[in-house]
Amino acid sequence: MTDARLIDGKAFAAQLRETLGRRAAVLKAQHGLVPGLAAVLVGEDPASQVYVRNKEKQTVEAGMASVGRRLPADVSEADLMAVVAELNDDPAVHGILVQLPLPAHIAEKPVIEMIDIAKDVDGFHPLNVGALSSGEEGLVPCTPRGCMMLLEDTLGDLTGMNAVVVGRSNIVGKPIAQLLLAANCTVTIAHSRTKDLPGLCRTADILIAAVGRPQMIKGDWVKPGAAVIDVGINRIEAEGGKTRLVGDVDFDDAVQVAGSITPVPGGVGPMTIACLLENTLIACCRQNSVELPDV
Ligand code: NDP
Repeated sequence: MTDARLIDGKAFAAQLRETLGRRAAVLKAQHGLVPGLAAVLVGEDPASQVYVRNKEKQTVEAGMASVGRRLPADVSEADLMAVVAELNDDPAVHGILVQLPLPAHIAEKPVIEMIDIAKDVDGFHPLNVGALSSGEEGLVPCTPRGCMMLLEDTLGDLTGMNAVVVGRSNIVGKPIAQLLLAANCTVTIAHSRTKDLPGLCRTADILIAAVGRPQMIKGDWVKPGAAVIDVGINRIEAEGGKTRLVGDVDFDDAVQVAGSITPVPGGVGPMTIACLLENTLIACCRQNSVELPDV
């Protein structure tokens, strides 16, 4: 069997950001609107700092406004809530994200629930979660949305396909399963208590790995010709004392069996920020009762 087709998320995301930039330009020219994304970062976590910096850079590059709020690690929950309330009330801010994880002394749930659902561009608010599961209009979580875009670009109509999602987290596994169901797949959600996981994975036309365990899914777990979407981002030790990023799928093994597969890095990862920008543009249009510009 020949190697799988590589699903190039990096290129897809770059194209999406370019399209969003053109849409933002039309919004500005026709309606004087500039979509604004506020990122709230608490503390000094290096990975979160890099991630938020990337978001801010790509927001500005797409012609949108970036509003940064940096708060000290010992900020009180009340002060963080006050910042969210201020952003909720700011008409120049159309999307708000609070970078997770938060320091241990702050409960995430009330902070997420404080975000105006119309500005909840991460799609984590319980009302947006409910909208997704009941098929109503809301804001869809970014990584799951990115996975669907890549799948639909690669496979076209997903109707009737067997999809197995390994992982049932609220931010990745469950919303991906909902989106696959909405796209008429037959969906199974697997987790740490699933029996015969390799056998179950081998039934999948679409296999989604969102586990957080480096290279756990082997080539002989993959049905020949299946589409494999690897959401995992794991840093492992490499030669010479260095580290490198790998997914939850053993790529070198699975690429020989799959029909198409996302690499790590360069697969799902870049789609997350691109979809965040798309959500910000959508939120801006909805808040101003303006159609999404056609470009
Ligand atoms: P969580 O730790 O919240 O969830 C992991 C899920 O995997 C759980 O449902 C868990 O099952 C399941 N699991 C763990 N071990 C096994 C096992 N041995 N067999 C079967 N299932 C198992 O992780 P996230 O969903 O937040 O993230 C998953 C991965 O995706 C991570 O690598 C993360 O870094 C990456 N990620 C990537 C993003 C991107 O932008 N590309 C964005 C977000 C996450 P159980 O519920 O039973 O414990």
